[in-house]
Amino acid sequence: MMAARKKRDYIRICGGTFFLIVAVVSFLYANTGFFRPQSNAVTDHYFDFIDCGQGDSCLMVSEGSAALIDASTASESEQVIAWLKKRGVEKLDYLILTHPHEDHIGGAAAVLNEFEVDTVYMRQPTEGTEPTTSVYLNLLEELAAQSVDLEQAEAGDRFTCGAFYISILGPLKDYEDLNNQSLVLRVEHGENAFLFTGDQENAAEEDLVTAYGAELNSTLLKVGHHGSSSSSSLSFLEAVDLEYAVISCGADNPYGHPHRETLARLESLDISYYRTDLQGTVTVYSDGSKLYVQEEIA
Ligand SMILES: [Zn+2]
Repeated sequence: MMAARKKRDYIRICGGTFFLIVAVVSFLYANTGFFRPQSNAVTDHYFDFIDCGQGDSCLMVSEGSAALIDASTASESEQVIAWLKKRGVEKLDYLILTHPHEDHIGGAAAVLNEFEVDTVYMRQPTEGTEPTTSVYLNLLEELAAQSVDLEQAEAGDRFTCGAFYISILGPLKDYEDLNNQSLVLRVEHGENAFLFTGDQENAAEEDLVTAYGAELNSTLLKVGHHGSSSSSSLSFLEAVDLEYAVISCGADNPYGHPHRETLARLESLDISYYRTDLQGTVTVYSDGSKLYVQEEIA
């Protein structure tokens, strides 16, 4: 009898300990994301909004395929290249350049020199607005010198990067302003969607809302034009119906980005936002149904 009781007690204690462990692990999993970065299902698919001063550059990786959206300024190209190397990137399947301003294409030639790039997506500027800047002309020379597949992207184009399904949604018109000519990308991964509008401003954003309506719905928005108040109108943000926003801008930049009006609009809609000027590189992991945000990785 004694032996049997002891055994039952032992089982009861073990059972209690087991349930305690399950409860602790479940809590950490559900509330802190502590265990998730070790899970391949999550770490296989991510976006790094790279801390690269007053410019834009986002690395997206899915199942070993990599794409870079914009390459920041020439002076920040070393930061971008260092980050890609830190991530173990050896080849870019795509380099997507949203529009030919220096804070988006300035580092592109250096990236092309450092990494093998399969395909570059750009857009032919609206007639009469083609830049004559040295950074743009040098980039065209670099592209011509390398055996890179250069694609002129247009709204309606679609392609995949690993498990990411990428649609080019815009620009929808031949705008005169180069910011509004920015390529608009929507990246789908299961139930998650990520919207990139480059430096598009209110007029071009409104054209997206008119054309796509609820199809713009996205889990995360890379906030247009570094958080300028001339982008991200309330009606646009409501149409996108986002949960998370990332703002790429330099600390103490001369433009005052992000503007407080933009932050107020994000806050009024209860959107969680992250800033590269304050939080460094922002990494967003996707498992196809949830997002896990991590500020700069040590
Ligand atoms: Zn910009």
